[in-house]
Amino acid sequence: MEKTLSIIKPDAVAKNVIGKIIDRFESNGLRIAAMKKIKLTKEDAGKFYEVHKERPFYNDLCEYMSSGPVVVMVLEGENAVAKNRELMGATNPKEAAPGTIRADFAESIEANAVHGSDSLENAKKEIAFFFAEREIL
Ligand code: ADP
Ligand code: MG
Repeated sequence: MEKTLSIIKPDAVAKNVIGKIIDRFESNGLRIAAMKKIKLTKEDAGKFYEVHKERPFYNDLCEYMSSGPVVVMVLEGENAVAKNRELMGATNPKEAAPGTIRADFAESIEANAVHGSDSLENAKKEIAFFFAEREIL
């Protein structure tokens, strides 16, 4: 059993499709082990996306991620990291496979509906960024 971090980003929360996105996870063998709706500060977003700080889109990304509420979740299941990435689809919704979350709900390469950890090691760090042990059930 693996755990991974998922974020429903501000564009998808604003579109009122939280439930539709969560259904993709639950229907594909992932279980919600922790969940909360929060609004990140720009500083929070900056820390979370620190790995991207040299990228040209970093500042815009931090503005966008703090522009409205997000839903942060710990997903648990077999191969949860890879399974979540598969359900999400490619970063650019124009390249995302049909039926993936990003193909169906994303607005653009930036406002792309969901975040998912890209490795087990990063999943552990990202989960610890948002959740205390006692919140993960
Ligand atoms: P992913 O979320 O698929 O793991 P990355 O880790 O490469 O993608 O990028 C993190 C986030 O930064 C993306 O989900 C997206 O919101 C934003 N992003 C990535 N590439 C670009 C880009 N070329 N222009 C604008 N925003 C981008
Ligand atoms: Mg990434």
